[in-house]
Order: sequence, then structure tokens, then C-alpha cells
Amino acid sequence: MHIATTVAEMRQRRAEMSRSVGLVPTMGYLHEGHLSLARHARAESDHVVASIFVNPTQFGPADDYQRYPRDPERDLRLLEAEGTDVVFMPSVEEMYPAGFDIWVEVGGSLTDRLEAAARPGHFRGVTTVVAKLFEIVRPQRAYFGEKDAQQLAVIRKMVADLNMDLEVVGLPTMREADGLAMSSRNAYLSPEERQAAAVLWRSLCRARELFDGGERSAEAIRRAMQAVLAQEPLAHVEYVSVADTATLQELEAIEGPALVSLAVGMGRTRLIDNVTLEP
Ligand code: AMP
Repeated sequence: MHIATTVAEMRQRRAEMSRSVGLVPTMGYLHEGHLSLARHARAESDHVVASIFVNPTQFGPADDYQRYPRDPERDLRLLEAEGTDVVFMPSVEEMYPAGFDIWVEVGGSLTDRLEAAARPGHFRGVTTVVAKLFEIVRPQRAYFGEKDAQQLAVIRKMVADLNMDLEVVGLPTMREADGLAMSSRNAYLSPEERQAAAVLWRSLCRARELFDGGERSAEAIRRAMQAVLAQEPLAHVEYVSVADTATLQELEAIEGPALVSLAVGMGRTRLIDNVTLEP
């Protein structure tokens, strides 16, 4: 496995790749969710590139950029075990040199609500860095988790609107035994918060249960999820949403695929999760 820390080194490695390239972008502190993306890339692509870059432009001033967990040595061991060919680990200066002055920003309903409302500028940072990674690595496929469903939708829109020549592959959320979605940020949780965090999954399961029982009122599902969340005193609900998967507009009646998503504060940690309901 090769490690590239500069754009020039990464381009040189890329030039040596003769067949299809799969890219797995990450911010490191890897868990089984990231590794499932790497495994899919390994199975589908001839060459696998993973990136590890804690991207400062997607963090707001009140976000956790400084304390975001990092363990590059462990990450490299895990990626090597998955058969990754190249890990791109640039510095902040390498990605954003002095004078850097361009942004890639998806507009419209995908970036004015939910995570975008809670984290102004977040998706602009994501699309800018992902566009740069696509340009540097030039993959045929790029792998993202459905855990970050809005991010996946925004990236798909960027790729479509800019006619980027690659396939975006979305993969299912990997979960802990109690249903908590794996996340690097789970490392912040105290033992009590970690136990309480399972309430997100319980509320999503309640949504699915109602839906499977024939409930099609989005508001009834939101209310039932709020009721589950209210049973956990450590959970501070930021939003509960039942939205159209294509536009992310809140629904009244579920008639097509619906993204059920939520954001919950747990102590100093912000957790998100989602499921898709398909009539
Ligand atoms: P991050 O390092 O948090 O930026 O995540 C890198 C990629 O891994 C993103 O495409 C995430 O959606 C994906 N990811 C994060 N958590 C999970 C999970 N629990 N299951 C599957 N993919 C995930």
C-alpha cells in the first residue's frame, strides 16, 4: 500500500493505474462503516484509493474540527488489511494553499434544510473537497455511506449538474449491536450517553413499524418518533424529518420513497441517522 501526502504524488500513483479506480473518501478514525465502503470498492474496482482528510471547510466555528478524533496509524493498518492500493492523506495546506479561492456549491432544496440548516456552509465544504478529490484521483466510482443521506444526495446532484464522469455508489449504514449507526463521533460519548444513543435507532424502528402497518401520514410518524425520543432524558432532539428522498421537502402523505431522518444532541455530541421507507 502506498501513501501519498501531496497532490503530485497522488497524481503519479494514479497515472500508474491502468484499469478502473474506486475512491473511498473519509475523514479517518475508521470504523466498520468506512471499511464496508473499502470492501465494496475492492470487490468492484481494479484499483482502490482511500483518502483520509479532516476537511476544515466543512466544519462551522462551533463544530468539532479541533477535537475531531484522529488515529492515522490505525487507519492505515485497517486500510491495508482491506487491500487498499493507495491512501491519499494530504495536509490542510496541500488541499487549501494560500490564495485558494473557489467553492463548489449545490443550491436548491437539498442544501437549505436539515443538516444544511443546522450547519451553515457544511455542504459547500463537502462538495468543494469532494470535487477536488474527484479531480485529483479521477475515479470511475466513488463510495459513500447512506448514513449521511443528505450528503449523498448533494454529491449525486453535484456529479449530475457538473457532468462529472463517475458513478456515485451509496452503501447501507453499518450499525452496532443495539442499532446505533457507527460513527467516528461515537467516540465522544460517555458510557451513559452511549447507552442512551440507541434511542435514535429505536425511533427509526418505530417509524418503520408504523409504516409497515400501513401508516402513511408523515406527521403521525414524526410524532411517534418524537414520543420515543422523549423517553430518553439525555436526548435533545434537533429535528425529526419525513421527507421526499429526491427533494428533501417535508411530506404530508408518504406516496413515494421517503427519507426518515433525525439529528439528536447527546451531551456535547451531535448524532444523525436515517432510514428510507419505500411504499
Ligand atoms: P466520514 O469519515 O464520517 O466523513 O465518513 C466517510 C464515509 O463513510 C462517508 O461516505 C460516510 O457516509 C460513510 N460512513 C460513515 N458512517 C458510516 C456507517 N455507519 N455505515 C456506512 N458508511 C458510513
